Amino acid sequence: MQGDHAVYTMTASTPGRELLVSKPDAAERLRAIDQKIDALKAQILAIDHVVRGSLTQRTKVCGNPGCRCTEDSAARHGPYFEWGRIEAGRRVNSQLRPEVT
Ligand SMILES: [Zn+2]
Repeated sequence: MQGDHAVYTMTASTPGRELLVSKPDAAERLRAIDQKIDALKAQILAIDHVVRGSLTQRTKVCGNPGCRCTEDSAARHGPYFEWGRIEAGRRVNSQLRPEVT
């Protein structure tokens, strides 16, 4: 029952995921999810390591004449998150991937 133990330890720290464990293929899915989470954590840690600057949330107008976003500010696209910081004396903005934010 080593596998069950592994599932238990993974879920113990994250309440709410127990639901997945009741399915037969849950361990497999859980492992895939945990791999994804680990990958994201690694990305976040990598960012934390060098983080300096500001996080900005913005919405965008696409410029497409048929799109509502041009007239309705509530229909703008986004939100997108940008990480702004000073690099080599210049202000740099990076758009962050949704999974990072
Ligand atoms: Zn638009």
